[in-house]
Amino acid sequence: MASELKDIVAVVTGGSRGIGLGIATELAAAGASVAILARNGERASEAAAGLGGTAPHLGLACDVSSSDDSAEAIRAVEAQLGAVGLLVNNAGITRDNILLRLREEDWDEVMDVNLKGAFNMTRAVTRGMMKRRSGSIINISSVVGITGNPGQANYAASKAGLIGFTRTVARELASRGIRCNAVAPGYIETDMTAALDDAQAEALRERIPLGRLGTPEDIAGVVRFLAGPSARYITGQVLSVDGGMVI
Ligand code: NAP
Repeated sequence: MASELKDIVAVVTGGSRGIGLGIATELAAAGASVAILARNGERASEAAAGLGGTAPHLGLACDVSSSDDSAEAIRAVEAQLGAVGLLVNNAGITRDNILLRLREEDWDEVMDVNLKGAFNMTRAVTRGMMKRRSGSIINISSVVGITGNPGQANYAASKAGLIGFTRTVARELASRGIRCNAVAPGYIETDMTAALDDAQAEALRERIPLGRLGTPEDIAGVVRFLAGPSARYITGQVLSVDGGMVI
């Protein structure tokens, strides 16, 4: 089905590179009109211009940690592309350190982008979705939100928080025709994981039953499925896409 998202306007936060760009590309291939939001608006516009499909796309500067920015971005998307039917909360950052060295600002920054950012964006789209009694929200969590990970107390807490947020939004909005699910990627090859040296990458591979790190496309296909009609009876779920790392 190459057009199952035809007539859907999708917003992908952090869609200018990495997993988000993979998701934006896949949604465009499924027929969606895609708005890519990132702090660097120029890169977001370039990424949007490179998406395929026949629907129009858009790139905009937006810092999801700001509620004003988030609301303004959704207003701009709706004015230019139409009512938002799909939101993918993908924007995320790491500020890793062991607990004793983790600074208050490292904690706050990660929470503000990864968790509050999803809240800001979700709040900005839900009123319209509720009126139309239709919509889908997909949050990009992480396996470390399920297992924890030394050196990532802030990041793991934000990703675990996203799971609680997903389940709550799913329960609150199901009666309004809105689904909310999460994807929990394992280790995916992007800028975020580029700092791994060969030995670290090899050690990781040994912990992954399918024997390789993931790619943005591995996540994008699952997001496309969750966004589409085949997943119409799925809400409040967390789907791990990690090569079997957490079984
Ligand atoms: P990435 O390559 O570092 O890309 C991050 C994206 O988020 C960029 O487009 C960035 O653009 C945007 N972004 C960062 N801060 C933002 C903000 N405040 N407002 C709006 N956009 C912002 O990251 P990735 O590896 O693709 O990860 C994407 C998501 O998957 C994240 O939520 C991450 O936690 C999650 N994840 C990744 C992995 C992995 O192994 N890579 C594993 C599990 C989960 P600007 O810099 O221009 O803002």
